[in-house]
Amino acid sequence: MSPAVNKKPHPKAPKPLLRLEVRDLSEEGARAFLSHIDCGTVLEETVNSVHNLLYSSNSQIPGTRSVTLILRSMPGVAYTTGKDIDDDHKEIHFSTDYISGIAKERKKEEMMGVLTHEMVHCWQWNSLNTAPGGLIEGIADWVRLRAGLVPPHWKREMDGDWDAGYQHTGYFLDYLESRFGHGTVMAVNERLREGKYDEEKFWKGLFGCTVKQLWKDYGRSLGKRSEAEQGTLDGWVEGPESKQDSGSV
Ligand SMILES: [Zn+2]
Repeated sequence: MSPAVNKKPHPKAPKPLLRLEVRDLSEEGARAFLSHIDCGTVLEETVNSVHNLLYSSNSQIPGTRSVTLILRSMPGVAYTTGKDIDDDHKEIHFSTDYISGIAKERKKEEMMGVLTHEMVHCWQWNSLNTAPGGLIEGIADWVRLRAGLVPPHWKREMDGDWDAGYQHTGYFLDYLESRFGHGTVMAVNERLREGKYDEEKFWKGLFGCTVKQLWKDYGRSLGKRSEAEQGTLDGWVEGPESKQDSGSV
């Protein structure tokens, strides 16, 4: 079961200006967004969920001043960018072509998932733009995961590197959150607030060991997890998405 996500305003968060721009109301994807999503509240609630999942009550939140969601025809899914003249003003570009291609029964949840992922990029720290892209994308998908918006194709994987990004890294971060306790990913994000990224110092400072070691531990825990699927095994703490991704392809 997904825990209820706190959608109330974070006590320390700035209140950004939120805008919606629909480039062409005749597009099927634009109409689908407007008919499935409560546009009056969705941006504010998504901002609040991101703040509550990434920041404790005494942490410093980036001073983003505005977020504009732009629905428009374009290749791909979505991306987030800052304005050239002032990076505190963010734009989320979301493809109406992609929206129109989502299966009807998945449309609302998938749109909310993408929006949540992109909203993280408006508010996360990034070691002055030196953090690995895979870690930045992993944090965004970890928030999506914890918001209970996991698509059916996501799965935990132990192959490849820890920083392959997206859900691959998101599930690794979720393992760290389960192993080291609530607030672990908040601490990872907080450590990206100051200075340039130094992999050795970064992970040793947080966990006392290298990220390669943590990735190995994660792989072992996944091995135990698959054994546990045939029986019962203590020691694995289920993430909120366990029901939704089981048996997915
Ligand atoms: Zn992203």
